[in-house]
Amino acid sequence: MPVGTQATVKGLSQRDLWDDLHARIILGNTYHLFLRPGHELIGRLGGLHRFMSWPGAILTDSGGYQVFSLSGLRKIADEGVTFQSHLDGDTHKFTPASTVDVQLAFGSDIMMVLDECPAYPVSHEYARVSMHRTVRWAEEAFGHYRQRIQNAPTRNALFPIVQGSMFPELRRECAERLFELDADGYAIGGLSVGEPRPLSLEMVEASEPFLPRERPRYAMGVGMPHELAEYVARGVDMMDCVLPSRNARNGWLFTSEGRVVIKHARYREDAAPLDPGCGCYTCRNYSRAYLRHLFQAGEILFASLATRHNLQRYLDIMGEIRQSILGGRFPLYLNSIRNSAAQDRGAAV
Ligand SMILES: [Zn+2]
Repeated sequence: MPVGTQATVKGLSQRDLWDDLHARIILGNTYHLFLRPGHELIGRLGGLHRFMSWPGAILTDSGGYQVFSLSGLRKIADEGVTFQSHLDGDTHKFTPASTVDVQLAFGSDIMMVLDECPAYPVSHEYARVSMHRTVRWAEEAFGHYRQRIQNAPTRNALFPIVQGSMFPELRRECAERLFELDADGYAIGGLSVGEPRPLSLEMVEASEPFLPRERPRYAMGVGMPHELAEYVARGVDMMDCVLPSRNARNGWLFTSEGRVVIKHARYREDAAPLDPGCGCYTCRNYSRAYLRHLFQAGEILFASLATRHNLQRYLDIMGEIRQSILGGRFPLYLNSIRNSAAQDRGAAV
């Protein structure tokens, strides 16, 4: 899922996403949209799909992760989290029920429960208390959600989030407790918070066997291109990551031949396309030299062309994974990814 934090994937139009990249689901951030322009305004204007004119599906997070990572003062209590807006310092409160209401006002196709995403590292004791709070919040959110959809039936799904920091037994306990909620899908959160990469995969391994097999599993906030198949190998169906879009804007491009840091002098007179193996608009039309020029000149077109390519690369990888599964070749595919990742680890094109 491309990340569209403020109801936009930075640098791209919805037509680019839908017609060119064939993205069918994007992610929006509840924290940002709640603060500005506000869920009530978005609700009055017909919901997030109409507001941003997006024909596809939308997943929104609960806002919890951003509260913990962006807001200044915050206070976690049993009933929810009180925080100060990073925009104007105003005080707000998220509760398990209020974040369901906010996301229902958005009309999100997939909503997330409020959770606590602990920093890394934390003590086992803190992780345990925090995980139990996340489970309690998920139960409260589901109680409220089921009441709301009973009164006004919708098809908006609500996913609970497995937490437990980097402790496998806490992950397992959390997954087992959340299983009982009989949700439409399950998320594995608390990843990419600064832990060594192998630990993220280990935490997915610790959670996944205890989640229902026939429901989608969503690993939140992962990963690098060569890691996507690793998550899929561990039973993950959905992922989101700011890396392709954020790195694009910083001139860091993912190609089928490895990464390209476009500012490097070696691309100054390079007439080749960014990625000869890519069919995106950027690669079909422009040279590395032109892209490097745009980047060096600080032109906004660079962000747009680079984001388009990086997202295409991620979506192409997911397409390859899907095809290899359908063709019964996924183990072979995974091996080839592992071999090439080992080969060009640390090496730029
Ligand atoms: Zn491309």
